Amino acid sequence: MRILQVSAELYPLLKTGGLADVAGALPAALAAAGQEVRALLPGFPALMAGVQDLQAVADFEAPWGERATLRRGRVAGRGEGFAAYVVDAPGLYDRPGNPYEDDARQPYGDNHRRFALLGWAAARLADGLDHGWQPEIVHAHDWHAGLAPAYLAFAAPRPGRPRVRSVYTVHNLAYQGLFAPGHFGELGLPPAAFHVEGLEYHGQISFMKAGLHYADRLTTVSPTYAREIQTPEQGFGLDGVLRARSGVLAGILNGVDDQVWHPATDALLPRSYDLDRMAGKARCKAALQQALGLAVQPAAPLFVLVSRLTEQKGLHLVLGGLDALLAQGGQLALLGSGDGWLEDAFRQRAAASPETVSATIGYDERLAHRLFGAGDVTLVPSAFEPCGLTQLYGLRYGALPLVHRVGGLADTVTDCTLEDLADGTATGFVFDDFSAEGYARALRRAFALYARPTDWRRVRATAMRRPADWSGAAAQYIEVYRQALA
Ligand code: ADP
Repeated sequence: MRILQVSAELYPLLKTGGLADVAGALPAALAAAGQEVRALLPGFPALMAGVQDLQAVADFEAPWGERATLRRGRVAGRGEGFAAYVVDAPGLYDRPGNPYEDDARQPYGDNHRRFALLGWAAARLADGLDHGWQPEIVHAHDWHAGLAPAYLAFAAPRPGRPRVRSVYTVHNLAYQGLFAPGHFGELGLPPAAFHVEGLEYHGQISFMKAGLHYADRLTTVSPTYAREIQTPEQGFGLDGVLRARSGVLAGILNGVDDQVWHPATDALLPRSYDLDRMAGKARCKAALQQALGLAVQPAAPLFVLVSRLTEQKGLHLVLGGLDALLAQGGQLALLGSGDGWLEDAFRQRAAASPETVSATIGYDERLAHRLFGAGDVTLVPSAFEPCGLTQLYGLRYGALPLVHRVGGLADTVTDCTLEDLADGTATGFVFDDFSAEGYARALRRAFALYARPTDWRRVRATAMRRPADWSGAAAQYIEVYRQALA
């Protein structure tokens, strides 16, 4: 199958969250399964610079008349890497910093155009803009690519050629790409699209809803999240649309990219380790404690947290539970950026207890790896979590996840209950009640297990062995593509 993957981010070229990890890993996994995958990306500076050997393919015009150039190059990676198209439109994309927001953390005023053009370019590619290659499937990720399925749904039929089918993946329903209705005329869609049975959402334009309504098949990044988003509690107002389309919705868990995330080969760690050589993990811990100015105490359980600092991530629980964590002899090392009040709160806690709390505010790929390598416990107490990747990295690196039982966290971590300990299936600490009490009890469980080193090592070994390679996920996506084509 010829598959065009459309996303706004792609690891290692541009990443603000888990979307990039998925967009970077899935093409290689699909290629390994014999599929022909190309990526389509907006021409953000990091992507223009990172995609190699960019050559112009064709010029084209946005629905509002702006000129753009489609370029093709390669994303380097294992083997030959994979081909990628970039939409070169400097007026829209050539801005430093965050791809979605300005320096004041406000969404760019022309985001509707910036991301409509991405979907539009996908539809133009489906229509033959590159004479040498046309996709059979357009796989669009998140709201940034949400208009691609809409453009495809309204595309004129191509005599003698099958309709190009679309798959739309929700990585986070909370970010919907909502725009004022006055922009609808710029998008190049027929008036029928601005309808409750279309992309209209309470009088606004919703790119997310466009994807959900018009794609042939829908996926999201865990089976539990696929169920949760069909409920009013977690549907962000789109649960009705999702229930109506539940017959074409699948939950497919993200994998872990072995080439990037494996403690035995991770060049970003001071020492590599694996299940047979766990001494390296102790060295990673000591090195990190030293580097961050924490007390170098091998016996102090080290809790790590790598996260966007937003409401979603349940960080008020971590702040509220920090005294208890420290009182029980733990240390906390956090890496994150986001909401100002959370950044300030963690900074203050670190300043008050420099030997036991470290807060690095910013984005740092290397430090993220070193935190998982050093950590004993990975904190992911999110209010909701579509899949979550940091708990998967915590499992892989033997930093046992402590998680709220939601979304992908529920699907990937098994609590240390007595029966799961006895059965050898426990991999972490899971709490149901999203409250200070629920979190505190899970924290207690982590300390209680840590005090039993033989059990701790056993649980850690189970966690590190948990299979999470991308090939299984790729096989499920291929099945979804087949269904879309059927
Ligand atoms: P989300 O996509 O909601 O941010 P995920 O857990 O799915 O959450 O993915 C987050 C990804 O971003 C992980 O790869 C994590 O390691 C990475 N990450 C988050 N914050 C930072 C940071 N400050 N520095 C480096 N990596 C980060």
